[in-house]
This record gives sequence, C-alpha cells and structure tokens, in this order.
Amino acid sequence: MAQDLYSVLGVDKKASPTEIKKAYRKLAGRYHPDRNPGDAKAEERFKQISAAYDVLGDAEKRKQYDRGTLFGGHGPGAPGGFDPGGLSDILSNLFGGGAGQRTGTAGTRRPRAERGRDLEAEVTIAFEQSVDGAQVPLAVTTSATCGTCHGTGARPGTTPKVCPRCQGRGIESQGQGLFSISQPCSRCGGSGTVIEDPCPTCHGDGAVRAIKKYKVNIPAGVRDGSRVRLAGKGEPGRHDGPPGDLYVITRVTPSPVFARKGENIEVEVPLTIPEAIRGAEVEVPTLHGRKRLRVPAGTKHGTVQRLRGEGPPRLGTKGRGDIHYRFVIDVPASLSAEQSEAVDKLSEVMNGNPRAELFTSAGDAA
Ligand SMILES: [Zn+2]
Ligand SMILES: [Zn+2]
Repeated sequence: MAQDLYSVLGVDKKASPTEIKKAYRKLAGRYHPDRNPGDAKAEERFKQISAAYDVLGDAEKRKQYDRGTLFGGHGPGAPGGFDPGGLSDILSNLFGGGAGQRTGTAGTRRPRAERGRDLEAEVTIAFEQSVDGAQVPLAVTTSATCGTCHGTGARPGTTPKVCPRCQGRGIESQGQGLFSISQPCSRCGGSGTVIEDPCPTCHGDGAVRAIKKYKVNIPAGVRDGSRVRLAGKGEPGRHDGPPGDLYVITRVTPSPVFARKGENIEVEVPLTIPEAIRGAEVEVPTLHGRKRLRVPAGTKHGTVQRLRGEGPPRLGTKGRGDIHYRFVIDVPASLSAEQSEAVDKLSEVMNGNPRAELFTSAGDAA
C-alpha cells in the first residue's frame, strides 16, 4: 500500500506535466465509477488517481510534494521516504473523510455518524447570582429523535431504500468524460439511502423540534458574557453520532453599587470635602456585608483602596478577586446659606493658586 503519488499514476518522478495529464486521463477513464458501477475497488482506485492528480497536476502543489512540505512533511522528499498518510490526507481533503473508512460493497454502506450541532442559549441572572452562583431554569429548542420512526425518517413498517442514483455509494461524478468531479450524491445527500415513504410525523427528517428544560448550575464568579458548557446537551447526533454541546451565555444585570472590572469589583465611595481633607473612618459595602475603611487625611479624588480577596470567586482557579474602593469627593450642586458662608471663609484662607506650577516649566509664565 505504501506508494507515492507518482506510482499511483504510473509515471516517472521526472514526468512532464503533459505526461502526467495523459497518464491521469487514461487511468481515470479506466477506473471511472460510471464504467464500473458497484465495483468498490475500482472506486477506491479512482479516488487515489484523482487525489494523485490533484497534487501532481498542479505545478505548485507538485513542487511542495517533491520537497516534502505538502501535508506536514509527507512525500518522497521527507526523511524516511513516503508516508502513506499523505495519500489519505489528500483523499480526506477531497472526499470529506469517508474515503479511508469505507468498508463493504456498494449498497450496504452505512450512513456516516455525525456529531450533533452545538446549541447556544442565554440566561439573565442578577449580579448577586453571578458572584454566588445560581441554579437557573432554561428552556432550549432543539431537535430530538422522532418517536414515530425512531430517527430513520421512513414511515413505520417501511425502510429507507438504497439510493438509485448513486447505488448507495453516496457520491456521484459530475460531467461525463475524463475531467469529472466526484461530489456528494444530489439525490441522497451522501447518505446512500433514500426514503420513498416518509414518516408522517417528521416528514423524513428523522428528527422533530422539541423544547428541553434544564436547571443550569451557574458557577460562582461568572461575568456578563461568560460561556458555561453543558457537555452533550446540544442537538442529538445523526446515525449514532455523539450529541453536540449546549453553551449557556450568562447575561448579568448590573448592580447599582458593584461594578465588575475583570477579576475584581469596583465601588465608588463618596467623601465629603471635610472627610477628604481631615480623613475619616467610613463604612463601605462588601459583597456579603460591610467593612470600615480608614480614609487618610488629604485623600485625593480618585484614590483607590483595595480589600484583597473580598471580590468575586475566580473562575477556574482558586481564590477571589479584590474590591477596589474609589474615593470620589462629593461636591454639592447647591449650598444652603450657612454652607455658602463656610465656603466663603474657606476660600479666604485657602487662597493660593494651585495652578501656578502648571506654567513654570512651560516658559510662558506672566
Ligand atoms: Zn419520523
Ligand atoms: Zn445517492
């Protein structure tokens, strides 16, 4: 079986493009499925010939193949000589992976197992639930195996028939002559079977729409847009293929107090002007209670204090994030007469120009 692409076409490694084309035409004509109906060996040979010509008939691919750089180092130029895996790579490129696995004779071919599609659904949770985790109900529309025909798509009591167009091979060749292209059968879609008397429930699909209800465990620490994977809860596979997965995307309703910033939480803490000037001990909310923070005298607007490990749990790793308390100086929009008087007094005594040094280095100080 270990043969290189040149020997598949029966040509010398130094063969000219014309010689390669000639050899391909001759062989493709001899082994063409239309001339050998039901002959699995001829079909296999035809595929190898097509695959070999796909590479050797293309100057660029042929060069890569000769150098051994096509298909990750397969080819005569690669150390250790030709790896037959190279040919099956080409075959699966051309025929979607079915080529190497075909067993049995035409007509008894089983449809290829297909993994079910992945599904995606969103759940909306409260901020607190994103921190603590939650169990939330979820209904997803999915496809389920039809109960009437048990997935065959055929009316109960009947069975799918071997496809008359492709005789069960699942592929057909387009265009008579030598440059034909093999592709999935247009009648059966590649399954090799057709349903003459479809199931009245699913109309031949073998599947029906169904609503599945789950209670989804949302882990503590998710964010807005996190994806939670529920393995195997996607659409069922076809022909005994495995089911897909269900991805649940969490939408988190924002909290008016806690803002999620990556692994951490940020909280804005207003300070009065005297608190910022003199310092204070202030009470701040944590995720599950409250704590007292020491605000030093002379705290500037925007200063941040961290409480380590008080934030939300880190997903996938141990520990928790932090809470960042950002102090903002609360400037009143309107003042009472008494406050206005106090501010007047303050500006009398704090009357320097804090902007003076903005100009000393700019060279345009007055
Ligand atoms: Zn059905
Ligand atoms: Zn067919």
